[in-house]
Amino acid sequence: MKTVIIGAGAMGSLFGGFLSLSGEEVWLVDIWKEHVDAIRSKGLAIEEKGKVQAVSVNATSDITSIGKADLILYFVKTYHTEKAVTDSLVLEKEDTVFLTLQNGLGNEETICKQVDRKKVVLGVTGQGATLLWSGHIRHAGRGKTYVGELDGKITDRVNQITQIFRKAGIETEVSSHIHTLVWEKLFVNVGLNGLAALLGLKNGQLLDYPETIRLVEALVSEAVEVARRKGVQIESNPMDRVRAVIEATRENRCSMGQDLDRKRRTEIDAINGAAVREAEHLGIPVPYNRMITDLIKVIEKRF
Ligand code: NAD
Repeated sequence: MKTVIIGAGAMGSLFGGFLSLSGEEVWLVDIWKEHVDAIRSKGLAIEEKGKVQAVSVNATSDITSIGKADLILYFVKTYHTEKAVTDSLVLEKEDTVFLTLQNGLGNEETICKQVDRKKVVLGVTGQGATLLWSGHIRHAGRGKTYVGELDGKITDRVNQITQIFRKAGIETEVSSHIHTLVWEKLFVNVGLNGLAALLGLKNGQLLDYPETIRLVEALVSEAVEVARRKGVQIESNPMDRVRAVIEATRENRCSMGQDLDRKRRTEIDAINGAAVREAEHLGIPVPYNRMITDLIKVIEKRF
């Protein structure tokens, strides 16, 4: 399955590196030339538990040089998805599959604006990675990856994607309720990212103060109410899962926190901002999510 990954940052490089190691034909595409040049000249360095391995993987900034793809996997930040999809249309053939494993809400809709939705597959991943410098990433954590058809059917193509990921050591399952999983991941990001980013806290510190516990619960319960009103099937208490993820990643500074620390744009519009947009359509108030979104937006405007 010829796979082209658009966005070869932390996660794109992780998936691309593992797929390449397993013998799959994979191409990394990134607009960051220095990074692409480093991968081409020295291989992609993947660091895990202090050990570094150099992986040979195709990388380019010229997407037109690749030919057609069987699978296109988007791993750009959500605010770059629209442009990435436009760029990637040169890779399309009749049976190309378009997959996103990005965080947040709205990726499916952004892809489907330019691509026939029958070709689009959705997923979430519990893998974690950090880009340290050009050509060098750190594998920060392992967790399950899920892929699923938008209509919930179990098809050959989602089975095939699952197989190539598993062969590459990426633990993956097919899901018949992928939208639920996207929302459940959103609950974690809604409760954790903006708040930890603003307060300068590591993930686990959110559970150390009654005030932050209250705020996490308020943010998550607003998002859960939005999901329920939209008809998404949600387990009885999503807050337990949010707490468990925060606890399991206690020592991490979340990606939105890292973005603010480095004075970079965040994915707030696809996370708390998405909850606000959905709530507006439904006519329900989500004041905590609105406040977090507005605060982060002001910080971004002052960079
Ligand atoms: P990143 O910033 O490390 O990488 C994004 C890359 O996309 C950058 O290298 C950038 O140069 C490139 N890019 C931007 N526009 C492009 C374009 N038009 N064509 C090609 N390349 C382009 O981001 P990341 O941490 O890898 O995150 C990617 C997505 O995965 C996000 O939605 C994030 O929320 C999600 N995610 C991240 C993690 C993690 O641990 N980092 C875990 C799960 C999900």
